[in-house]
Amino acid sequence: MVDNAPFLTCQHAGLTVEGYSRAAVQSYWRIPELKIGFDLGAQPWDFMGTPTWLLSHTHLDHIAALPVYVARRRMMKMEPPTIYVPAYAVEDIRRLMLVLQRLDRGRMVCNLHGVEAGNEIELSREHVITTFATTHTIPSLGYVVWERRRKLKEEFQGLPGDQIRDLRLSGVEVTREMRIPLVAYTGDTSPGGLDNYPPALQAKILITEMSFVRPNHRREKIHKFGHMHLDDFIERADRFQNELIIVAHFSTRYHPQEVRRIVEARLPAGLRERVRLWL
Ligand SMILES: [Zn+2]
Ligand SMILES: [Zn+2]
Repeated sequence: MVDNAPFLTCQHAGLTVEGYSRAAVQSYWRIPELKIGFDLGAQPWDFMGTPTWLLSHTHLDHIAALPVYVARRRMMKMEPPTIYVPAYAVEDIRRLMLVLQRLDRGRMVCNLHGVEAGNEIELSREHVITTFATTHTIPSLGYVVWERRRKLKEEFQGLPGDQIRDLRLSGVEVTREMRIPLVAYTGDTSPGGLDNYPPALQAKILITEMSFVRPNHRREKIHKFGHMHLDDFIERADRFQNELIIVAHFSTRYHPQEVRRIVEARLPAGLRERVRLWL
C-alpha cells in the first residue's frame, strides 16, 4: 500500500466514511459501500478504486487531484471514472484536462457531467443522489444520497399476500417509492447551505464543515467567506436530526487539541454525542 495522503475512517449505519479535510489544505471523502467519493483535493492511492466522484466547488483544495486521479485510473487500466461537477465549471475542467493531457502525454479519459441545484443522479437501483445549493464565495453544491425502497401502499396494507399478488399481476401499482436520506455532504458553506435544504439535517450521516471555533472570531466575516463557526452549530442544536455529524475543514490556525477543547466544552448535550470532530 502507498501511503501518500492521510485519511481517517469511521463506520455508522452500515456505511464507512473515509476522508480528510482541512481548510486551504485539501478535502476528500469517500463511502466505499456506495462506490462514491466527494471532492478531490488530494487522492489517497487507496481511493483510486472508487469510480464515481461528486465535486462541491472548484476551489483548489477540493479539486487539485482531479487530473491526477483520472490519469492514475487510466495508468492502472481501470474503467474511466464518472465525475459530477457544478455545471459552470465543466468547460474549464475539460480545457484543464486537455492542457494536462499535452503536458503529461497521456490521455485523460473520464465521464464528466455538469450538475445544478435540484438535479437527481441515478446511482443504482437502490440509491439516488440529489443536489442542493450551498452558500460559499463561488457557486457550490451539496449532495444527499438517498436509499430508495418499494413500500406497500397504505390502501393495500392488511390484505392477504395472494390478493396483493393478484392485484400486482393485474397491473395495479401496489407499491410506492420511499426515500431515506443516508448521507449529506455540504462541502464548504455558510449556514445558509444547511438551512435551505432540510434533508441535509435529516440524513443519517451529515458530513459538513466547521472552519472556525474560537469565540473571538467575527461571525459575519466567516459567513461572508462562505464558512461556518461553532456558534452556528450551537444555534441550530435542536434542528439537527442526524445520527452522526462529521465536522471537518478546520482552519490550519488551530491545533487539533484546541479544537477538541473548545468544541467539547461548548456543544450542548444531545448534540455533543452525535458530533465527530474529524481531526
Ligand atoms: Zn475548502
Ligand atoms: Zn472553498
